[in-house]
Amino acid sequence: MDLPWAEPYKIKMTEEIRISSREERERWIEEAGFNLFNLESDKVFIDLLTDSGTGAMSDKQWSEMMIGDESYAGSRSYTKLKNAVNEILGFPYVLPTHQGRAAENVLFSVIVKAGDVVPGNSHFDTTKGHIEFRKASAIDCTIDEAFIIDHIHPFKGNIDLEKLEQVYKTHPKEKIPLCLITVTCNSSGGQPVSMANIKAVKSLSDQYGVPVFFDAARFAENAYFIKEREEGYKDKSVKEIVKEMFSYGEGFTMSAKKNGLVNIGGLLAFRNEELYRNCGNMGIIYEGYLTYGGLAGRDLGALAEGLNESTEYNFQKARIGQVEYLGNKLIEYGIPVQRPIGGHAVFVDALSFLPHIPQSEYPAQLIGVELYKEGGVRGVEIGTLLADRDPVTREERFPKMELLRLAIPQRTYTFRHMDYIAAALKNVFDRRDEIKSGLEIVWQAEILRHFTVKLRKKTH
Ligand SMILES: *Cc1c(COP(=O)(O)O)cnc(C)c1O
Repeated sequence: MDLPWAEPYKIKMTEEIRISSREERERWIEEAGFNLFNLESDKVFIDLLTDSGTGAMSDKQWSEMMIGDESYAGSRSYTKLKNAVNEILGFPYVLPTHQGRAAENVLFSVIVKAGDVVPGNSHFDTTKGHIEFRKASAIDCTIDEAFIIDHIHPFKGNIDLEKLEQVYKTHPKEKIPLCLITVTCNSSGGQPVSMANIKAVKSLSDQYGVPVFFDAARFAENAYFIKEREEGYKDKSVKEIVKEMFSYGEGFTMSAKKNGLVNIGGLLAFRNEELYRNCGNMGIIYEGYLTYGGLAGRDLGALAEGLNESTEYNFQKARIGQVEYLGNKLIEYGIPVQRPIGGHAVFVDALSFLPHIPQSEYPAQLIGVELYKEGGVRGVEIGTLLADRDPVTREERFPKMELLRLAIPQRTYTFRHMDYIAAALKNVFDRRDEIKSGLEIVWQAEILRHFTVKLRKKTH
């Protein structure tokens, strides 16, 4: 019999999570205005709000916390991080930042100007925010297949080369400071980009003189998918694939809270010294001196070790295997989910789950509330609440996909937790016909309403 894979680590420390009763949860979620963001974490049993900064560090990372060098300039921990980025990702110039969005802020302060366009696969929301804040626009060139929720395609994060060339043909080169490839593509569901696509984007961009950068938050998950799914990469290591991926870019921004395996941190890296110098000046204004960038020395050491661990094949096999296990369990129960299953999360398709609830009554949020009441599991709505109103007309915007995202923190929950989540969601699914009406808004903020919105049950 073939041996199944198993986690390449054992557990050294645990954290208690409180099991609550259904009655308690019904009261708490009502008090929270049916908004899962308003719940204190003690009221959540399994927290799938995000995998960002919520994972567990290894003993080696914790030992870095003890030996961190807190020197303002030239810290040993910075040198360790710089060496890790040189060796694993292949870039000579490295600037730490306090988060991924801070890396975006620093880079875009230098290269993005009003009126510019930044093509890429579905930009992450903070990335888009930083582009639009500068009165430039993000142009989504993701392949159309990405938006057909159950269409099986191995690389749904790919960039459509025709759409990209259209952008290059209709804008002067001076107005396109970069093309940004997000690996894996968070906004299209943690879906990977193939090496062939990265190469093709690089060669097309070279023709038009546009530099290619990566948004590298989940770069190691992307490399694992290439190894598993793309011809010619089966026998390459995840580290070799990572090196090749980044060889096609001028630099990257990274939220280290994902595949960096740390609770806080970000990174910028470059091939070009002048760009590094210019970004360094902005980094000093916004983040801190060049060798710490808003982080403690110990954070830099833990990140260096995290980059090394997350690019190990067995690590990713267990990481992505766990997400896939949950996804497959839900599929087995007949629950509609996005396919293929993404690298960091399972996305539940609310429009097929609750076809009788109109989008104007926030069906994905409603499933999130029901799942919380059922089992104390907290997911997050990626649907109409998040899409918010049109900034000009103030009309509700209804996105093509209405999803409940269940993001799995790294090295945090066990397979038994996955079984529990699946059982709780199955119970909600089995009684979906009894869910007769949705939610309505009682209060909402002017922008970014999903964080603070207050809702109530709609009565017909
Ligand atoms: C999380 C994330 C960011 C932003 O990073 P923060 O560390 O949360 O500021 C940017 N891009 C992608 C793809 C992300 O997943």
